[in-house]
Amino acid sequence: MSADTYGPATRAIHAGQGADPATGATITPVYLTSTYTQRGIGEDVRYEYSRTGNPTREALETCLASLEGAEHGLAFASGSAATAAVLSLLRPGDHVVAGDDLYGGTYRLFERVWRPLGISFSYVDARRPEAIAEALGEATRLVWIETPSNPLLRLADIAAVAGVTREAGVPLAVDNTFATPCFQNPLALGADIVVHSTTKYLGGHSDVVGGAVLTSDAELHEQMKFYQNSAGAVPGAFDAWLTLRGVKTLSVRMQRHALNAFLLAAHLRDAAWARDVVYPGLRDHPQHELAARQMRGFGGMVTFTLPGGRQAADAFVRRLRLFSFAESLGGVESLICHPATMTHAAIPPDERAARGIGDGTLRLSVGIEDVGDLVVDLEQAAAPLARGS
Ligand SMILES: *Cc1c(COP(=O)(O)O)cnc(C)c1O
Repeated sequence: MSADTYGPATRAIHAGQGADPATGATITPVYLTSTYTQRGIGEDVRYEYSRTGNPTREALETCLASLEGAEHGLAFASGSAATAAVLSLLRPGDHVVAGDDLYGGTYRLFERVWRPLGISFSYVDARRPEAIAEALGEATRLVWIETPSNPLLRLADIAAVAGVTREAGVPLAVDNTFATPCFQNPLALGADIVVHSTTKYLGGHSDVVGGAVLTSDAELHEQMKFYQNSAGAVPGAFDAWLTLRGVKTLSVRMQRHALNAFLLAAHLRDAAWARDVVYPGLRDHPQHELAARQMRGFGGMVTFTLPGGRQAADAFVRRLRLFSFAESLGGVESLICHPATMTHAAIPPDERAARGIGDGTLRLSVGIEDVGDLVVDLEQAAAPLARGS
């Protein structure tokens, strides 16, 4: 169906997901097959081998492309594989300008896998579009930003950055994992490529790892599709189906994630035991106005710091009953992580400190539970801190 005239909640449920042509199945079947029987030599076939194409994966690719307002979608076995697909556009000698507040695994991929292959990277404060403009050079072939960023929830003004990259003729890739297409559409703001870890909010239930790349640029899409088939980091049919099933409820989940996150952020801001509460939906977030302009919701992530450093953070997470102390984010259940030793452990300590990720910094992925229960959990875990023990 041509779903693009429908609203995002409708597209999440219907785009790419018409009744199955073979059986009429209302829900896209899990096509568990590696190969497809062909009639004879030289006949046109829609599918030949599942690394190259699979109907369940295609339904997911079509749906995600529709949600981002993109012409083309590619699904990958993880968000990191999706990132690698974008990096496959580069050749030795090329230069990348990236934001300095990136997902730790993305930074590791840049520095430990692609830099040794002859690609250079410059990291700048993506809150300042002029810093990106200044870092562009003759060899720059890609600009990469994450907004809101992880874990400090800093924003890049996508339209302003896209103005810079357009002028320079360099493609702009935006990792939209934190905002989701429900709250932010980078392509509509001028970006060329959107990347997702579908492991997070898109899948939404912490039961599947995946990634996606969406673009309306036919040439970039062709190159990355060639890479997808050649390198083969594709999701299996069942993983694609699980992700698609999660995506159907993206809109209602995100509304609840954002509401709960706002209420928890407001609570933490007023709590004596927490410092430096960061949530783009709070009026005192330094980029609240940009967030309100560029996003349709402020997301489900909240970052704050315990003054007692690593020891206080450790005691706090051990006492929590509802929040799971775990990596990842975006599931229906609430999670808490310690970026310095978990998601951002790959970043050297001095560099981490310079970026504002302290030993007492904790990141919440606020789930969709009853928010009162979440408040009670945080408070009971903080009670000994408040007493100064
Ligand atoms: C998790 C994450 C990734 C990597 O995705 P995987 O599915 O874990 O490979 C990339 N970017 C962001 C912002 C993430 O949160």
